[in-house]
Amino acid sequence: MIDYIEEVDPEIAEIMRLEIEKQETKINLIASENYASRAVMEAQGSVMTNKYAEGYSGKRYYGGCEFVDMAEDLAIERAKELFGAEHVNVQVNSGSAANMAVYFAVLKFNDPILSMDLSHGGHLSHGSPVSFAGKFYDVTPYGVERETEMIDYDRLEELARKKKPKLIVAGASAYPRLLDFKRFREIADEVGAYLMADVAHIAGLIVAGLHPDPIPYAHFVTTTTHKTLRGPRGGMIMCQEEYASLIDRTIFPGMQGGPFMHVIAAKAVAFKEAQKPEFAEYQRQIVKNSKSLAEELERQGMRIVSGGTDNHLSLIDLTAHEITGKDAEKLIDKAGIIVNKNTVPFETKGPFVTSGIRVGTPAVTTRGMKESEMRIIGECISAIIKERDDPKVLEDVSERVAELCREYPVPL
Ligand SMILES: *Cc1c(COP(=O)(O)O)cnc(C)c1O
Repeated sequence: MIDYIEEVDPEIAEIMRLEIEKQETKINLIASENYASRAVMEAQGSVMTNKYAEGYSGKRYYGGCEFVDMAEDLAIERAKELFGAEHVNVQVNSGSAANMAVYFAVLKFNDPILSMDLSHGGHLSHGSPVSFAGKFYDVTPYGVERETEMIDYDRLEELARKKKPKLIVAGASAYPRLLDFKRFREIADEVGAYLMADVAHIAGLIVAGLHPDPIPYAHFVTTTTHKTLRGPRGGMIMCQEEYASLIDRTIFPGMQGGPFMHVIAAKAVAFKEAQKPEFAEYQRQIVKNSKSLAEELERQGMRIVSGGTDNHLSLIDLTAHEITGKDAEKLIDKAGIIVNKNTVPFETKGPFVTSGIRVGTPAVTTRGMKESEMRIIGECISAIIKERDDPKVLEDVSERVAELCREYPVPL
């Protein structure tokens, strides 16, 4: 896979070799990651990168666009079919840029936004003070209820009435439950706000009908293409026809120059893969695996935020085990399992320390693992945390991880 790079640039080839080895020999539970298919990677690493194509299909600012036009048209057609969207922009380079584009399209600077609190599971680009979203707009965060740790829609409605936001953002990076887009839209309508659904994490589940569909309710739907959707690293915006040219103009010439035609070709390939029945089956297995993993962790005495999961991820609150998310992440990594530290609702520690970890099943499900493997992984994680002073446990778990990785290789 890296033969040419080897000759030209041995240093980068070596780094890539290490990355490949790590991906093959560790268990990846990072909820936002996945393994793109060989076909997706072939398109992404192709001659399509050589082409400038500012503008949109049929109306480019460069000559020689006849073939990249065909690729972009196909990507758009397939995405429309997949999600049932009226209009799709596939040029946007990332999930954060997709969100920025929607804000730029319909808001003025300092306009009020209502979005999910970062520490309750929201995303930086929804309004954190360190993000453009927090700097350019007047952000009011909403969150989960203390008791249930699920979104408190009544409180959200109250906040909306009081703050009169121009835009409500529905979406999260670390929320293990389903989002009620219908209720979000009712609240948005009541106060005259736009509704943006950011489905970056759950796009694959939506395609497979495993999560409520935002398309009938949201004015704008943004997503990444590389998480549960299992495509190339990138973004996408969906909207009704009436906002089509506004969104397209905001992306180009508003925010971006030449689109990444290699990534757009890879998006088209990923959408074709996502149209197959196997993809829906894959998504169903992601959710089954996620539930099994959460159940096993709970059985082992870990506290699962909100008491379970309806999607591809869960959050473990480690407070009772007297270890921070930061230390747990490091410890678990030593045994060959990659997770990320994560804030829990009503977090008392900083974002670099945290009281929790987030575990997701899209990547391990791509490797072919099922419920029984999730139970093993759940046991391993709890053992590492609970018996962290016993070197024998670390050794034991490392062996089980190595076995699982051999049995379920990364598909290439
Ligand atoms: C991952 C994520 C994004 C950002 O995607 P990038 O491509 O990394 O910019 C945006 N919103 C949510 C909810 C996400 O989880």
